[in-house]
Formats: sequence, C-alpha cells, structure tokens
Amino acid sequence: MFKLSKKINSLPPYLFLEIDKAKRKARAEGRDIIDLGVGDPDQPTPKQIIESLCAASQDSKTHCYALDQGMPVLRQAIARWYKNRFGVTLNPETEILPLIGSKEGIAHFPLAFLDEGDYSLVPDPCYPPYKGGTIFSGGRPYLMPLREKNDFLPDLKEIPLNIRKKSRLIYINYPNNPTGATAEKDFYGEVIKFADKNKLVVISDLAYSEMAYDGYKPSSLLEVKGAKEAVIEFHSLSKTYNMTGWRIGWACGNEKLIAALAKVKSNIDSGIFSAIQLAGVTALESPYQFIKDMCSIYQERRDVLIAGLKSLGWQVTPPKATFYVWIKIPVNMDSIRFSGMLLEKVNIIVTPGVGFGKYGEGYIRMALTVSKEKIKEAIDRLRKIS
Ligand SMILES: *Cc1c(COP(=O)(O)O)cnc(C)c1O
Repeated sequence: MFKLSKKINSLPPYLFLEIDKAKRKARAEGRDIIDLGVGDPDQPTPKQIIESLCAASQDSKTHCYALDQGMPVLRQAIARWYKNRFGVTLNPETEILPLIGSKEGIAHFPLAFLDEGDYSLVPDPCYPPYKGGTIFSGGRPYLMPLREKNDFLPDLKEIPLNIRKKSRLIYINYPNNPTGATAEKDFYGEVIKFADKNKLVVISDLAYSEMAYDGYKPSSLLEVKGAKEAVIEFHSLSKTYNMTGWRIGWACGNEKLIAALAKVKSNIDSGIFSAIQLAGVTALESPYQFIKDMCSIYQERRDVLIAGLKSLGWQVTPPKATFYVWIKIPVNMDSIRFSGMLLEKVNIIVTPGVGFGKYGEGYIRMALTVSKEKIKEAIDRLRKIS
C-alpha cells in the first residue's frame, strides 16, 4: 500500500543497523563481547559540563524555544575557542551557526545547494550522511576513492571534466573517519584552488580536530588563504568533550553558506535546548588539559592495539589522529564475512569497511573505545584463531 520515495530507495544500505542487530543477539545469548565497532567515547562527559547543564536547566528562561541562530554567548564562546585553536577570526553574528550535533547540519546543508541531478563530490569510504544528505536533496554523489597509495586523500585530478561541471559541493574530512588519515596544508591549498576553479562549495568536517597523537595538531581548512570564500566547516562537541548524546556542534565559515544553512534549518528545527547551549559554553571554556588527558588515554590504547596486531603479523599503520584504526584484512575474505567470522569465533565486534562505501572493501575499522585491558584480551583472542 505504501510506496517509498525514490530518494529513500536510493540510499546506500545502512549496514550499521545490521551490525547492531547481530551485536544485540550475541549479548542476549550472554556472550562476552569486546566491542571495537562503535565510534562513541566510553568516558563520561566532564563533571563541570554536567553541573552547568543541571544549573541552567533550573532556570525557566531555558525552557522556551531557543533562538534558531543559537545563543550569542555560545557563538561568542565558539569564536574565542576557534581563534585560540586555529588563529582564525570568525564573526559570531554571521559566520557561526550552532547545530543539534554536526550530523544534522551536514545532512541538511545540501538542501540549500543541490538541485535535481546536481553532483556532490564525496570521498569513499566516508561518514554516511555525506551520501545521505546529497541523495535527500535530489543530488547524486560522485565517489572520490580514498586509496592507501594516496595516503587516503582523494585524487582531484582524476575527477572527469563533465562531472566537475555538474558538481556543486565537495566533502573533505580530515582527520578522517574511517581511515584515521590526516591532511596537511598543501592538500588543503589544492582543494581551495580546485573549488575556486570549478565553483564548488567546500564542506569540511572537522569532528576529530582535537583527537590527535604524538604532538600532532590537525589544522582547519579555514586557515588556508582565501578559504572563507568557499568553505563551510563543521565542528562537534561530541568526540572532543565526550558529549555524543547531548547533540551540540556548529558550522562556521563563509557567511552566505552559513545563512543558507540557517534558512534550511529554520524550516526544520527550532534550535538546541538553551541549557545544553550553556553547558556547551562551559565545555569550550574548560581547561585544554582535559583534551590532552583524553588523547593520552586513546594514544596508549592505540599503541597496545598496534603492537598486538603487529605481533600477529597484521599489516597496520598507527593513526596520527581519530580513535580509529583502519586495517587491511589479513586473509582472503571480504569485510562482511571477516567481521562476521570475528564475532562468531572470538566475540569481537569490528566494523566492515564496505559499510563506509565500496572502496572500504578489504578493510575493517577498529575503534579505540574500550580499555587497554580489553584490547589486550582482544589480541589474545585473535591469536587463538591466527
Ligand atoms: C562523529 C562524527 C561526527 C559528529 O557527529 P555529531 O552529530 O556532532 O555527534 C561528524 N563527522 C564525523 C566524520 C564523525 O565521525
């Protein structure tokens, strides 16, 4: 009786629901699962942020509809944080837009820029909303393969001229989910030149800007000269402050792009709960030491995992950023079968690379979101089947 839209039918399969189902089933059977599948911090939100929410929520002024454009105090706190971190000045009135988590902004943004049949240039493998948002807007994703031989950077020269002509958007995400790859300023410079030449809007997803190791500091695309002409950058408090469930992030950059996204959103949502916005201010103003401490926890886990996998003879490179390790499957098996086998035989959950797109085939992703003791235990279990 019901007919689904062409758009919903053309979404790529959302593999993660299937994985969730398999995980729940395994848990229900009482099996001792080690879950390296989810990209969700296992540590709690810092106490002062929770206390800030509690206090703010007592004030009835926070109980009404929030301002669509976000509270001025939050936009100002974002501008200060940004200036501090990247040395880039943003106008809190026109160049910053708070979001109900960056995923919603990323998914809604193409509604303002794509018409039926327009293309967006999407890395593959990638965070799924790049493709989803494009398809919901009537656009078509053109896949830019991220290959190991190119350090998981897209090869812009490969993109055919006829596709460039029909493209409006390009997605860039470094530090990268799922590959853990990073990008340097020379690549960002290339992206800006390419976007200028082909009249593209650049969507930069910087969800992992603060999760980096060995002294490495990711930069922002907005640091590149001329970037403000064409870039909208998405940031999130989710990974940085262990706030995935809170739903708060922001977009910043070119004011016309920000205004267009604000217009889309004013027709869809009604802002972030004000008490959460005030807690967000507390987060952005908290001492940077918290972030350093979190990174050293992840770095230690990364080192245990990499050393363990190497001792099994697996081929792995330690990521300089993100809490993901992107691993070439050590046997001749596709990523869904290999992940299924790990769950079946040793109760370890990993994410099959193909879940992020066809160029993710041949890889699995492990997330550093369990303790180093659990990681050691996972290595012991893998040793038994090696
Ligand atoms: C986690 C993540 C986000 C952030 O999502 P929120 O909606 O802000 O929680 C954005 N981009 C990527 C690539 C991510 O992995």
